[in-house]
Amino acid sequence: MIKDYMRKDLADFRPYHSPLKPYQVKIDANENPYAHSDQVIAKIQEWVQNKDNLTRYPDTDINALREKLSEIHKVDKDEVICTVGSDQLIELIIKVFVEPGEVALVPNPSFSMYTLSTVLNHGKAVPYELDDDFNYDYEALISAYKLCQPKLVFICTPNNPTGNKAAIEDMIQVLDTVKCPVIVDEAYEEFIGESMMQYIDQYPQLIVLRTFSKAYGIAGLRIGYGVANKEMIDMIGVAKPPYNVSSFSQAVAGFILDDIDYYKEQVKTISSNRDQLMKDLESKEVIERVYPSSANFILVKVKDDQLTEYLANQQMLVRGYNNVGRLAHHIRITVGTEEENRQLLSLLDTYKL
Ligand code: PMP
Repeated sequence: MIKDYMRKDLADFRPYHSPLKPYQVKIDANENPYAHSDQVIAKIQEWVQNKDNLTRYPDTDINALREKLSEIHKVDKDEVICTVGSDQLIELIIKVFVEPGEVALVPNPSFSMYTLSTVLNHGKAVPYELDDDFNYDYEALISAYKLCQPKLVFICTPNNPTGNKAAIEDMIQVLDTVKCPVIVDEAYEEFIGESMMQYIDQYPQLIVLRTFSKAYGIAGLRIGYGVANKEMIDMIGVAKPPYNVSSFSQAVAGFILDDIDYYKEQVKTISSNRDQLMKDLESKEVIERVYPSSANFILVKVKDDQLTEYLANQQMLVRGYNNVGRLAHHIRITVGTEEENRQLLSLLDTYKL
């Protein structure tokens, strides 16, 4: 049987599929619900007219975009690496640091790719638990660190899917103790405006992850990046496939940065809509608890697990957690446009417990 040739430890794994159900409102993947600026669209239209832009391989070193990012973040260009979504960066870091059987410490609950990528790359993902309110528990992190001697520690802030952020002072304390690489995943940083990036010189083990998939609205183009000191970036670069980021993604990310104020306005709107939505959700019968959020999504505990399916049948997609682990009976709702949020609230009103 051909399956006998597959790695035994992956025999029970299933390929990742995100259900492509028909939808009118898609608030399940923390994407930006708004349109791109006229300036960005005009530049894209012009870009595709140039034949070479499509027929030639991309710039494998992603120079122009790294240059722009280095100016924005006030770091050196050699301190930036760009990848196919931050998903790829997570994978590259694991490939470079974790040998078979070695440990990566991952928060629980948090973004599932840390665990999946670790296991796919022959490592062992060991969870450190968030507290009962899903806040970070640094004592749990540090004692897990001392016990497991990991090769990597992941921190996600604001954390997906719980929405809470880690305090800068607390992360600094972690960095004062933890010597192995510490990945601070700031996929939703634009919604808090607080970053660990300024500490990359002080802490050579720190790697900050960012993405263009959330605030910048190009999840479809798959582009993320990391910032760390040059030695760290060079080490991660060992595993980076040549030509990983497409020419189109590199170009569009650059156009977005050229019009960054437009996207900052969208972030402000999304953040104030989130605050309103959090309040409005509080009063809904089917919702048991609304967790505070610093990102563009809200985690809620529901009284009835059928809610995700009910909403999907009305062509509204939210992220449910299939009754597993600590996220059982929880759903994650991405903040949509004002109209989408209104539609969600009125569907919740019609839901019969
Ligand atoms: N980190 C976090 C915390 C995320 O929520 C996501 C996307 N869901 C990613 C990384 C990956 O984003 P991308 O690969 O689209 O850059």
